[in-house]
Amino acid sequence: MKVPLLDLKPQYLSLKNEIDEAVQRVVDSQYFINGPDVAKFEEEINSYLKVKYSVGVTSGTDALLLALMALNIKPGDEVIVPTYSFFATAGVVARLNAIPVFTDVDPVTFNMDPKDFERKITSKTKVVIPVHLYGQSAEMDEIVSIAKKHNIKVVEDGAQAIGVQYKDGRFVGGIGDIGCFSFFPSKNLGGFGDAGIVTTNDEELYKTMKMMRMHGMEPKYYHKIIGGNFRIDTLQAAVLRVKLPHLDSWSAKRRENAELYTKLFIEAGLAAADGMTSFDEKNKVLLPKAVYKETGHKNYHIYNQYIIRVEKRNSLLDYIRKNDIGCDIYYPVPFHRQECFSYLNCNDEDYPVSNCAANDSIAIPIYPELSNEQIKFVVDTIAGFMKEEMKYPMECKHCDCMKN
Ligand SMILES: *Cc1c(COP(=O)(O)O)cnc(C)c1O
Repeated sequence: MKVPLLDLKPQYLSLKNEIDEAVQRVVDSQYFINGPDVAKFEEEINSYLKVKYSVGVTSGTDALLLALMALNIKPGDEVIVPTYSFFATAGVVARLNAIPVFTDVDPVTFNMDPKDFERKITSKTKVVIPVHLYGQSAEMDEIVSIAKKHNIKVVEDGAQAIGVQYKDGRFVGGIGDIGCFSFFPSKNLGGFGDAGIVTTNDEELYKTMKMMRMHGMEPKYYHKIIGGNFRIDTLQAAVLRVKLPHLDSWSAKRRENAELYTKLFIEAGLAAADGMTSFDEKNKVLLPKAVYKETGHKNYHIYNQYIIRVEKRNSLLDYIRKNDIGCDIYYPVPFHRQECFSYLNCNDEDYPVSNCAANDSIAIPIYPELSNEQIKFVVDTIAGFMKEEMKYPMECKHCDCMKN
């Protein structure tokens, strides 16, 4: 049996007629830049995420860059980001000649550790970028309240978390000052190429970002501020408008897949009976934990990725790939260990949880259209590996991150 990490075709085929029609409509109009689908898509995102404003942009990376530009980040300013995320979160900071300052992450959610955020604040700190990694909200109440106390702006990196709700049901992207989302094809809401969006409830920031999307131009050929070309393609907006109404059902299917994994890993004796992150002698796979599961709203976790942790990660990776199962490591190298950031002279020992996660985590297939048989095959394959390879229970030799 073959189980790819992601297969985009079934989702396209399920909406083929509507999507083809939307694409054809844009092609017929030849209205490729700022066409009517762009404004309509933004309105639909506003009402879906319950935010006042949004601006469609070229990618999730540009969403982050635009947010920092709109907040007037200057060379030498410090921006605090988790060391464990996709590169864009830190890359945009350095591109503005500002200084990325890294925090360690929480051992259960892999999201920014609020205490480490507070520790890293200096008089130069202007912005904090919590990432809602894998499809679960960062600890926003603590982060926002610390940020307010120090007059720091909050830019949410929700690239993997569109539609995610926090604690009382607030949508991520509307909690901080600016929210940033990506429609890269592998995200829960994926375009047919690159696209992204910024969201905000602040009218001034909205106006600034909208102007900056078009080179800071207003009126035409008069430039008040320096922006860039950050426009979303009309074609992408048209495709995304067809997909948006289905997003919640796809995310629900990912949650169902996650619950089936949990059940099967427990039944196979590979995970603790609570299914989650508790550690005991027999525990050989640590499963992801949805920390807001009991909050009563539906999108507590949208599982953009399903991450397990195992001691012999690299051997397992080879083994399951040999068995035709797709998997990947998100992420093998935290920012503080990246060559391009060596000039920051980070202290490796400052990031024990991220260093462990980089060594032992592995993403297995979770996309909505997976069949139950495929999920069972993945668990059976991992069980087969454990039988052959795992002589000892899992334990982190560096810190207590496995003991939560
Ligand atoms: C995908 C991603 C981005 C970048 O989005 P692009 O659309 O690929 O530019 C930024 N941050 C995180 C956490 C991501 O997963």
